[in-house]
Amino acid sequence: MHKFLILLLSGLLITTAADAKKQTKGGDPITINEEDLDSETMSYVEANVLATMYHEFAHALIDMMPLPVFGREEDAADTFVVVITDEFFSPEQAEQITWASADQYARDHEEAEKKGWELAVWDTHSLDLQRYYNLICLYYGGDVENRDDFAEENGLPSDRAQTCEEERELAEGSWGSVLEDIKRTQAGPDWITLDEDVDTLGNQYVLAAHNVIRKEVARLNKRFAPDFEVKVVIENCNQENAFYSPGEGIITMCNELARSYVHD
Ligand SMILES: [Zn+2]
Repeated sequence: MHKFLILLLSGLLITTAADAKKQTKGGDPITINEEDLDSETMSYVEANVLATMYHEFAHALIDMMPLPVFGREEDAADTFVVVITDEFFSPEQAEQITWASADQYARDHEEAEKKGWELAVWDTHSLDLQRYYNLICLYYGGDVENRDDFAEENGLPSDRAQTCEEERELAEGSWGSVLEDIKRTQAGPDWITLDEDVDTLGNQYVLAAHNVIRKEVARLNKRFAPDFEVKVVIENCNQENAFYSPGEGIITMCNELARSYVHD
């Protein structure tokens, strides 16, 4: 259904000696051998970790700046992921990130259906399939001339496709002006600090997730410099999750999260 764009999050599979020797807690060091990894899976995991991290950053910006949100904050955070990844990455990379993130929601939906769970219509998040179509639509809306294959391959109905360009313009206008306001204009201290407790859980994807987070934190520090601080904590949570703690400026990226994106 989608051509996998492999290894686009470049450089992450080619680990340095230092990376390859990360010590697990009380265990053997994990060594990453490129040949051992399923690169499609790796690309999928990396894309999802990255999208999730940016979703949490949206919550942090909304809380710390603070920003008005006229609607569901969760939707605004999903929108932010599309806007910022499309700015930071090549169209091919941004497409892979959007697709992988959307695909995960489609999988979540299927799994819930299989288990016979009721739709969480009461939840703060839109329904998984709505999140899927919102992401596909917003990415498509960024360049409708060149992304119509993407929309078609991912089943975006033409009824929705008609408004995607407009929806994307609104997203750009909203998040774009926020990003403009916090753009770094001169050298200065980092606004994001990392607090790492990296237990790989014996899983190479967890280590890769850590690399993604570190790389994106460095990118955000370089590009933006708001007048507040955010801390990104990487730790074991005993749950596959990532979350933002309002009022504290803390984003927690659980080590377990990466494993939830590994599918057979
Ligand atoms: Zn959220």
